[in-house]
Amino acid sequence: LKIQDYRPQPFTDFTRPENVQAYQEALKKVRAELVGKHYPLIIDGERVDTAEKLTSLNPCDTSEVVGTTAKATVKDAQRALDGAWAAFESWKKWDMDARARILLKAAAILKRRRLEACALMSIEVGKNYAEADVEVAEAIDFLEYYARSAMKYAGFGAAETTWFEGEENGLMYLPLGVGVSISPWNFPCAIFIGMAAAPIVAGNCVIAKPAEDSGLIAGFMVDVMLEAGLPAGVLQFLPGVGKEVGEYLTTHARTRFITFTGSRAVGLHINEVAARTMPGQKWIKKVILELGGKDALIVDETADLDVAVTAAVQGAFGFNGQKCSAMSRLIVVDEVYDTVVGQFVERARGLQLGTGEENANVTAVVNQMSFDKISGYLDLAPQEGKVLLGGEAPGEANGKTGYYIQPTVVGDVDAHARLAQEEIFGPVVSVLRARDWAHALEIANATEYGLTGGVISNRRERLEQARFEFEAGNLYFNRKITGAIVGVQPFGGYYMSGTDSKAGGPDYLANFLQLKTVTERW
Ligand code: NAP
Repeated sequence: LKIQDYRPQPFTDFTRPENVQAYQEALKKVRAELVGKHYPLIIDGERVDTAEKLTSLNPCDTSEVVGTTAKATVKDAQRALDGAWAAFESWKKWDMDARARILLKAAAILKRRRLEACALMSIEVGKNYAEADVEVAEAIDFLEYYARSAMKYAGFGAAETTWFEGEENGLMYLPLGVGVSISPWNFPCAIFIGMAAAPIVAGNCVIAKPAEDSGLIAGFMVDVMLEAGLPAGVLQFLPGVGKEVGEYLTTHARTRFITFTGSRAVGLHINEVAARTMPGQKWIKKVILELGGKDALIVDETADLDVAVTAAVQGAFGFNGQKCSAMSRLIVVDEVYDTVVGQFVERARGLQLGTGEENANVTAVVNQMSFDKISGYLDLAPQEGKVLLGGEAPGEANGKTGYYIQPTVVGDVDAHARLAQEEIFGPVVSVLRARDWAHALEIANATEYGLTGGVISNRRERLEQARFEFEAGNLYFNRKITGAIVGVQPFGGYYMSGTDSKAGGPDYLANFLQLKTVTERW
């Protein structure tokens, strides 16, 4: 490939009125052209419709249907699997360069349609402008980054072996076959496409099942890939119900690998069913899991308080806390607890609740199930701590009925309370009081998760201790703990947060390849 080195996409500056205006025009265009659209399945390059449909609602105005997708049946899933294996026979023989060019072309198309993709997410999942913008930038980055990293896996001798007299020895990377990619609604553009494009560029074929709440943006992204020239059958688009087609595909004997991003409960279930060998199965399925978190930010007595409060507000309430990386535990040492928490609450009080289209700071959470689950934690909050801000689930904002939850801060939560242990996945922060730095680090590590974490401190030896001892796959010092950039901060957690596969990292594609050693005696 003759291309420049990878550089992440810059973000859009929405303090500039022309950028806000362009976004609002894109919202109008998307309302005219994409809202109300129906996306059928795509199997072997053909659009296939189903008797039943899935409906995607605007979470910020639940009276509005954003659009529909087909709802795949088990029969459709079987067809998609057969077709993908047939397509694999030729796709695996394509040059790595040629496969990578399709990703680069898709990135170029997405750059041109960036605002449309953003606007569609504002309407379908309630992202405000900046949140949608950084996500589409991430989607472009995944395509650009994986296209380049594919090069290092190309050809015989791609990995190092030691010279041996009288023989030629070499290692080569080969694709695995057909896999299933099951993605969540919270990064429905970037994660959806990243989890499909990585195995695809490595020579695999993928059946992509998007989350039910974000089928339209997924359909939009599949169109981008097809427009870029992806051959029929390489990416099968299979919107459907996780418990039905998802379950069918993850248990199927002919599924070679599963890449899953979503909740811990579903991820662990998939891990279990995928481990069972089905009749006729001739491999051990490879399972890549990226799951939830209960991410903590520690603020110590040496911290710059302004840095701490900014990091806490951004990390907690960006996209309403609906990020696996969101700061859901704020751990503050006793000496500065009252000052930090006081300022944090005041800053959070200024956040406006409203729609993604209005570019509100905090918008509605994604669906009724989420709304009910978070409301349950709000009911629990007064028993487990002091509600310092919010605590209500009004279910409406600015005259719109939707899944609105107030930004909520609960103080003096015990480290072992449910609010401090369970992923809430909404705009709800538990604040924990630590005696000192050592206690703060102990509390930070006292969950089963290990996704993101952060420390705001000016004490060098503490940062160095945290570098090794803070148990998180992505650790940040003196900044917010969300917003990992492809290639810059390879992303993924360990423990119950996943298999630490590091999306957007230098070895991510190796998850979808197998190594073969070939020796020839001269
Ligand atoms: P989810 O409920 O686990 O759903 C994720 C996907 O799994 C959806 O497509 C869902 O389909 C499907 N699914 C459900 N049951 C299934 C089954 N039995 N077999 C196969 N597939 C099944 O998660 P979510 O609510 O969409 O996403 C939020 C979660 O994702 C949070 O826990 C968050 O922390 C995590 N997350 C992690 C990362 C990371 O990188 N570590 C990134 C983003 C999100 P339906 O939509 O049809 O149910």
